[in-house]
Amino acid sequence: MSKNKVGDSVSTLDNKKLNRRNFIKRSAAIGVGTAAFGTASTGPTQAQGTQAQAIAWDYEADVVVLGAGATGLPAAIRARDLGASVIVVEQNFDIGGTMIHSNGNVSLGAGDAIQLRDLAGKNDPEGLITIAPVEPPEAMRDDPDLLFRDQTDWTVVNTGARAAYRYNNREVLRAWADNVAPVRQFLLDNYVKFTRISGTHNEGGLSRARRATAMFKLGPVTDVRAGTVTQEDAGRDADGKVLGHASRLSPVVMDDQRARGGRGVLGRGAAIARPLELSAKEKGVQFMLNRHMDEIIRESQLSGRVLGIRASYTPRRDPKTGEQFVSYGEFTGGEWAKGLIKDERLTVTIRARKAVIVGTGGHNGNPQFRAMFHPGGLEPSLTAKAWAWLGGPGRAADASGIIAGMNVGAGLDGMEQGYHNQSSRRIITVLGAMDAANLELPGAAHFPYRRAGGVNVGAAGFQHLIAVNQVGKRFFNEMRVTQQLGSSQYPQTGAIKKWNEYVQGDWRNCRPDAIKAVYDDNFAIDAALAINEGSQPPHFLPGPIWAIFDQAAVDRAKWNVNPPYTGDNGLFFKADTIEELAAAIRAGNEHQKVALTYLKETVARWNSFVAKGADPDFERGPDAPMHAIATPPYYAARIIIEWHDSCGGLRINGKAQVLDMKGQVIPGLYAGGEASGAHLMHGLGKACTHGYIAASNAVNERA
Ligand SMILES: Cc1cc2nc3c(=O)[nH]c(=O)nc-3n(C[C@H](O)[C@H](O)[C@H](O)COP(=O)(O)OP(=O)(O)OC[C@H]3O[C@@H](n4cnc5c(N)ncnc54)[C@H](O)[C@@H]3O)c2cc1C
Repeated sequence: MSKNKVGDSVSTLDNKKLNRRNFIKRSAAIGVGTAAFGTASTGPTQAQGTQAQAIAWDYEADVVVLGAGATGLPAAIRARDLGASVIVVEQNFDIGGTMIHSNGNVSLGAGDAIQLRDLAGKNDPEGLITIAPVEPPEAMRDDPDLLFRDQTDWTVVNTGARAAYRYNNREVLRAWADNVAPVRQFLLDNYVKFTRISGTHNEGGLSRARRATAMFKLGPVTDVRAGTVTQEDAGRDADGKVLGHASRLSPVVMDDQRARGGRGVLGRGAAIARPLELSAKEKGVQFMLNRHMDEIIRESQLSGRVLGIRASYTPRRDPKTGEQFVSYGEFTGGEWAKGLIKDERLTVTIRARKAVIVGTGGHNGNPQFRAMFHPGGLEPSLTAKAWAWLGGPGRAADASGIIAGMNVGAGLDGMEQGYHNQSSRRIITVLGAMDAANLELPGAAHFPYRRAGGVNVGAAGFQHLIAVNQVGKRFFNEMRVTQQLGSSQYPQTGAIKKWNEYVQGDWRNCRPDAIKAVYDDNFAIDAALAINEGSQPPHFLPGPIWAIFDQAAVDRAKWNVNPPYTGDNGLFFKADTIEELAAAIRAGNEHQKVALTYLKETVARWNSFVAKGADPDFERGPDAPMHAIATPPYYAARIIIEWHDSCGGLRINGKAQVLDMKGQVIPGLYAGGEASGAHLMHGLGKACTHGYIAASNAVNERA
């Protein structure tokens, strides 16, 4: 029996004690579990099976969803729509996962409702969009077969000269292609609004335009059902001006999407995550926030059904004041506060009568895990996307869902694909922050943890700085440091790009000439991660990399290096001399383990090159003007090497069931999104569909 008596420390948002009886009563009132559907409930019930004798379950539901992001939210709603009771377990203080942090571009297709709407030249029913379709009709005539062939086309080679999805798991891809059109409709049915179709998102297939962006339109009130948002919540006005703050609704300032929807149309992950959150709460999905799944429990470790999970309490706090972060739902109250289970016990167990769905995101924030597949992944200063929002080291994309699956025998799939993917490792143009989203500003609940938005200097801005490694030596031509693989590879905006002239399945797509024309791998990341004079045994890690510049650069380029774009976050420093700057970095950054011994010498050498107008070390000069670094104060800002997309994860089949190392289904265990493998495709379109497929099948498991 559990030592925790049911209800002991379970409280509702209105602080009423919640015992088992009134939990069920309240659940029923908001639609969770009728007798016919089964109930989500608390209380030490005994489960069947070998481990069951030992486990007193604190909660139970038909389906337990791990993670409230792009996989988890659709999975939870779909399972609930099909009559299951659902508890979502989320380690973060709020709902949305990486999805809410994203740009909200959703590539689906196969003749989905938005393609058909734009093809017919129609407007959205709410009349929020004020521009005509962006794409020509021929770019939107699509079907599941065409999409499936696109995404398994052996001839597609990306700008790193790698085959992007040649070996995608064909069973998974077939199921995906058959479900994407229903998923677009499902998203629309759950309050998500979309812009016009515009281009195709990374790995969305090259034959047709398939991307629409989740949107809100500026209005007098924020009403996610109607698709409107205030400037205050969006952080931007109708003319696209950034207002200097984010919000609790959208922890990243929303993007101006007038080109895809008209004036006042804004896109961002919040425009998909918040509508799904509200719909889920309305339908009776229960959310347990601040709760990290640590263990998936199976009848016995490597055999039998999955029975449930064990999860620990993981609240997040302001590092200075100690105040606990609260979710948008708790903060806003009313209907947004529905369905939140508050429980501060250190550990709870949750029984899944039918299935557990793993939607915990990727492994790109876990250096030990990623190093199993790419030795360069061991460097701890290499951060994952949405780093600050998800909780930083040990929390953001920590691979916990994948590891928990492996602990009950799950196999892995497609781990190799992440390391050859254009959207995986990259150096970005935002300086002095934890991750790429420089418009994560005050107003977002977790901003006190992030402490600075970062300064986006753009690729051209790198002419004003030198990039140095942990000992203060330059390592590459700065103008090429942020060059990315791939953005030209796929038709990101507008119609199918001309360069492409893609013909499905035609060998000419990958003949050497074609590859050479788009090949753009310049190895800056490899240079940044190279062993250097400060690399210490036994691992010889490279350490962080730094942008070094002076006041003249700030004035010339008009960079805003003031709060909230910079802050006391260990990633941005200012000093009157180069020696003092080097000392400040050494003392103030957690990953800087050695002195920047060469920094003064490097700056002097650089200045001598500027005087001569040539850079013999890295051949800068033809790329851009060279500027001396000689006007105090001097600045250092960390250059972020980010591991953006996490590809590879739990091995699944076309039903999103997790398979073990012999290829056998693990009964009661499902997975999708970045926690799953062998479907190399960026983001939301993949994850939402996986979640939908997983739930559609999970509800059919016997209870
Ligand atoms: C800046 C940015 C822009 C992007 N733009 C786009 C875009 O425009 N289009 C696109 O398609 N994709 C985009 N992406 C990528 C996209 O957001 C992700 O690929 C997608 O959200 C992954 O979905 P997921 O369900 O696998 O993970 P997530 O959405 O991250 O959800 C996983 C959730 O699980 C939680 N979790 C993790 N471990 C545990 C645990 N042990 N217990 C409980 N909870 C746990 C996490 O806190 C998180 O909330 C972008 C990402 C970023 C950061």
